[in-house]
Amino acid sequence: MKISIVGTGYVGLVTGLSLAVLGHEVICVDNDQNKIFKINKGCSPFYEPGIDELLKQEVAKKSIYATDNFEKSILESSVTIIAVGTPTVNSKIDLSFIKKAAKQIGEALAKDDKYHVVVVKSTVLPGVTENTVRLILEKYSKKLAGNHFGLCMNPEFLREGCALEDALQPDRIVIGQIDEKSGKEFAKIYSKLSCPKIFTNLWTAELIKYTANSLFATLISFANEISRISESTNKIDVVDVWKGVHLDKRLSPYVGKKQIRPGILSYIFSGCGFGGSCFPKDIKALAIFAKMQKVDAKLIESVININKTQPHRLILHLKKAVGNDLKGKKIAVLGLAFKANTDDIRESSAFPIIEELILEKAKVVCHDPMVYKDNTPKQLANLNITLAKTVDEAIKNAEAVIVVTGWDEYIKLTPKFFKQNMKNAVVIDGRRIYDKNLFTSNGVIYKGIGL
Ligand code: NAD
Repeated sequence: MKISIVGTGYVGLVTGLSLAVLGHEVICVDNDQNKIFKINKGCSPFYEPGIDELLKQEVAKKSIYATDNFEKSILESSVTIIAVGTPTVNSKIDLSFIKKAAKQIGEALAKDDKYHVVVVKSTVLPGVTENTVRLILEKYSKKLAGNHFGLCMNPEFLREGCALEDALQPDRIVIGQIDEKSGKEFAKIYSKLSCPKIFTNLWTAELIKYTANSLFATLISFANEISRISESTNKIDVVDVWKGVHLDKRLSPYVGKKQIRPGILSYIFSGCGFGGSCFPKDIKALAIFAKMQKVDAKLIESVININKTQPHRLILHLKKAVGNDLKGKKIAVLGLAFKANTDDIRESSAFPIIEELILEKAKVVCHDPMVYKDNTPKQLANLNITLAKTVDEAIKNAEAVIVVTGWDEYIKLTPKFFKQNMKNAVVIDGRRIYDKNLFTSNGVIYKGIGL
């Protein structure tokens, strides 16, 4: 099938690439010339394991290309997937990108004689596909959804860092449909995938996505609340608490004689908070939606509040180790990405930590294996920090190190390495990636979340 994808960011490109691998012809539509240029050269505009190799392969096969020609892309394809951003701005979901995309698609549909299915993949609140996207499409196409063209909502569950694997081997596909014909036509693009396919209405599909993300965010904030209770006792290490909890066979079931460690456990673990382009914005949007619906969503509000204050816990640990006065002290921050294996720094816990250190007049040196001086995002460029090229450079003569991201490169670091390079070997572990006993017995002042 010929498929156009509007918005070629993380979701758009990964979806497009996986559909190309599945044998479809994919047109990626974006208004960012730089992205279009890179994609057509077979280079991904962002880091994702394995993406460049696959993109080069599919571009060479001509199964995928990028363009800014909206109308031609829509008219040449039979399915159009909307994957533009839906950020939260001033505590409100910003629908301006999706509205603009819907208008452009509607204008093209006005010239399209064949049956075409429009699909919202962007994360949007319940009701947006039916009450906003549908109305715009109908207005500009002068056609009726569910009659002249199909309309679906197909939430995306991929995780950055393993996005290609998630897109090529999804655990389920949710298809919200305005009518049966829309869902049936659209589902053809996934005919080669054998995972369960859930057909439902547009509103339910939208809420499934928010519920999934908010559930994971809730687990993280719960784990962080437990870390605060542990810290308050001076007797409990939260890592031991989770060891004791995780081994419950309802969480870690036996397959034969082997007890497995499901991925869910990584969310039931204490750290310096969740970030990224999805969890923070989606749970905030859900809280707003609950309010609009006059639902008192106290649990969701608490999850947000715990996450907002969690990064500050690392500053408290830091001050316990080096004293309250941080002025002029070199503090190294290891990790800017919101999690390992991605270069995405959106809403990373690193930012509130860095901002607080700057406010305290500390000398902040940051390092991240995926964020370099020549690709410094705007968010960082405005901060008074030094970006180190290597971990060695970052921690040289530092008075403390704060670990924010659990990169493999950091996990491998030894107490000896910190002792040899730092002014004082003080390690504040925001992800609990180090062995507490090994570090303390080798002369490192080791503090961390939940300790
Ligand atoms: P992104 O910001 O990386 O990409 C959005 C792209 O849309 C950009 O390339 C932008 O140039 C393009 N764009 C905006 N308006 C356009 C228009 N009118 N015409 C053409 N192109 C346009 O966003 P993303 O991270 O890929 O997220 C997209 C959506 O998917 C969001 O709703 C997000 O919540 C959701 N989502 C994201 C993830 C994730 O891990 N990033 C996972 C699941 C769902």
